[in-house]
Amino acid sequence: MWPFKGQPKADYSNVKFNDLNAPFPLFEAPVSNASNFHGKGQCSICGESAEVCFEFGIGSALIQSCPKCQTETGLDASDKEDQICKKCGATIYFPPIAEEKVLCCYACLRAGRAAITKDTEIGMISWEQAFEGMTHGRPGLKHSDFELVPTDSDWIRARLPQAVMFELLRTPTYDTIQGDQWQFCCKQPMVFLGEWNREDFHRNAPDGQGHAYFQKIVQGIVPGLWEDNLHDVTGIYVFRCSHCNRMTAHWDLA
Ligand SMILES: [Zn+2]
Ligand SMILES: [Zn+2]
Ligand SMILES: [Zn+2]
Repeated sequence: MWPFKGQPKADYSNVKFNDLNAPFPLFEAPVSNASNFHGKGQCSICGESAEVCFEFGIGSALIQSCPKCQTETGLDASDKEDQICKKCGATIYFPPIAEEKVLCCYACLRAGRAAITKDTEIGMISWEQAFEGMTHGRPGLKHSDFELVPTDSDWIRARLPQAVMFELLRTPTYDTIQGDQWQFCCKQPMVFLGEWNREDFHRNAPDGQGHAYFQKIVQGIVPGLWEDNLHDVTGIYVFRCSHCNRMTAHWDLA
C-alpha cells in the first residue's frame, strides 16, 4: 500500500509548516511528512517553549563555537560527545541537556544553531560538508550543473555554494522507507511537496489525469507501481523546481 506512512502524527494531519508560522523555503509538505517533527516542546538549546520543535538524534548535530578560536563545530546529537576543535585543539563540550530527547526549536534550527543531515542525489550533506562547500559525493557521480571534484576512490564530490548547503541543513528531512534523496534542478535544491498517493496525482495533474501525470514525473517507474500491487510497502516523494517549475519524484519500497 502506498503511500508509506511514518510515525502517526494524528494532531497534525494536513497541517503545513506555514500554518504554524514556521515556513521552510524547501519544504512545502505536510508536517506529518517530516521525519523528526516533534510539535510543541521545550527547546534543549535555547530553553524556550516553542510550537514547532524537532527531535534530534542520528544525523543531526548541534552547532557550537569553539571557546578559544570561535570556529564552529557540529556535535552529534545522538552520541552527545564532546569534540576537539579541528583548528586549535580545544575541547568543545556538548551542552548539558538533562532530558533524554534533544529537542531543537524552529528558531534555533533556522538560526543555524543546529543542523539536520541530508542525503541528496549529488551526495550526502552534513555540517562537515557544508563547511567544506562540497557534498560527500557518490560513486561515479555525473551532473552537468555542478563542478565535480574527484577523490582518491571512485567517489566524486559536487561543489555547492555554502548558503545552499546550510539551507538544506536547516530544513526538515522527509520520511522515507529507504532514505531521503533530495532532488536538484536549475543548480538549486528542489522544493519537497510531499509523499503522494493516487488521489494526490489526480488532484495535482494539470488536466486531472493522475496516471499520465505520474508517468511524466516519477523516475524509474516499474509495472505495478501505480496499481500498488508490488507486494511491498512503497512511498513516492514529489519535488518541484522553484525556478522552472519542473516536477520530479523518486520512490522506494520496503
Ligand atoms: Zn531553541
Ligand atoms: Zn578552536
Ligand atoms: Zn528547474
